[in-house]
Amino acid sequence: CGITGYIGPDDTGRIVHQGLKNLEYRGYDSAGIALTGETLTLAKTAGEVDELTAPQSADATVGIGHTRWSTHGEPTETNAHPHTDCTGEVAVVHNGIIENYDALKRELSEQHIFQSETDTEVIPHLIETHLADGISLLGAVQRTTEQLDGSYAIAATAAGHNGIVVAREDSPLLIGHGDDATFIGSDATAFIEHTNQITYLESGDIAHLTTDDITIYNGGEPVDRSTDTLDWDAE
Ligand code: GLU
Repeated sequence: CGITGYIGPDDTGRIVHQGLKNLEYRGYDSAGIALTGETLTLAKTAGEVDELTAPQSADATVGIGHTRWSTHGEPTETNAHPHTDCTGEVAVVHNGIIENYDALKRELSEQHIFQSETDTEVIPHLIETHLADGISLLGAVQRTTEQLDGSYAIAATAAGHNGIVVAREDSPLLIGHGDDATFIGSDATAFIEHTNQITYLESGDIAHLTTDDITIYNGGEPVDRSTDTLDWDAE
């Protein structure tokens, strides 16, 4: 139901955890965080964000977090996001519903072992198949979105790959621009104590966020999206 993420110099686990606290008002049944650098560190709970210990990782450069409102699969710890692939290197959080997950899962199940009952889990496995071709995380997410039907806001990371790749179709996703950090959120409450400089992604956008660059694509072409100043007091 809510997505948050952070790329910056501060304590990634703590900032992503705070982002999830900020998103609690949207309602949820479970929550989780992935920290990614050379390795992937996961923390999940079938309970409240307060029960989730902010993970620590010495090599984390990025973090993503999720509060889940389950549509496919019970609100268990296994079904909580982030979901991973077979290598345990790809992490994905997702809001929305993948309509064709059943067919994708059946096809993937010949070579991939699934852990959860969610529609979401096909996404990290699809990304894994494309990364195996030696392409970038951005390219892998681009190819994956071409295979998905439904509504989604997703954020994906992979151990050894730089940054966070986000994509949206119908479900909302925003980028927050801090002085020395970049944030993502389903809405601005996720990061509003850090910045009110916001880029609203449009449906079909895929963005690659790294420590020093943000590039946004739509239909395979780079696009310009404006940065707006959110007047928070007027909300
Ligand atoms: N359909 C996904 C699930 O059930 C995502 C739900 C959400 O938007 O939180 O896990």
